[in-house]
Amino acid sequence: MPKRQPIVSSRSPWAAPLAALACALWGGAAAQALPDPAFPVVRPAFVGFVCEAGDPPVARTEAERARFAMRARYREFLPAFFARVGEQPDAFLLMPVDGLRVAQVADTWGAPRGGGRRHEGQDLFAPRGTPVRSATAGFVYRIDDLSLGGLSVTIVGEGGRRYYYTHFDAVPDGLAEGQWVGVDTVIGFVGDSGNAAGTPPHLHLGVYDGSDDDPCAWAAIDPLPLLVDRP
Ligand SMILES: [Zn+2]
Repeated sequence: MPKRQPIVSSRSPWAAPLAALACALWGGAAAQALPDPAFPVVRPAFVGFVCEAGDPPVARTEAERARFAMRARYREFLPAFFARVGEQPDAFLLMPVDGLRVAQVADTWGAPRGGGRRHEGQDLFAPRGTPVRSATAGFVYRIDDLSLGGLSVTIVGEGGRRYYYTHFDAVPDGLAEGQWVGVDTVIGFVGDSGNAAGTPPHLHLGVYDGSDDDPCAWAAIDPLPLLVDRP
């Protein structure tokens, strides 16, 4: 496997055929785009930056092995995204679930979850298939079906803040990694995939910042105080 794949603009009519070719040449790995090159580098300190891997977690199952390998693969691309977003994270997040109001959200931040985990996000309940729009502008960093949450979309916004949307039933066909999205862009449809199986359909929204000494860290913050209703 090469370390990097070619820069393919999601705006280019050749994006899909090139991604397919890359898959054919390189063993069928999912197409994985760098940020749309139409967007300039605004933080040159991140050009050539390498995210430290830290101690690799020990996989106990095949699913974990695949998940950890996926994270490692994507980690290499993270600085390229950081380089193309501004310094300051967004001060507020627009409600991503169509028709839902912030006042209807029951606060479950930090609630106990299975396996000794804590709930690192908020659950936004809505009927299956309800469109989800990006809460901020940003780049689509990852579209995957290997996360604990199931079918997931992760977006890198301003300040390198990452927004993790999961349990999707489906993701729009046209959505591509590396693509710039605005707050009107539909990024998925509410479902119960992954570890939400058997629960009422909802969007899990996780928000992650870097830490003081590691911009690539995934330090969860509570999205609820940042959420505002759409006009
Ligand atoms: Zn959740």
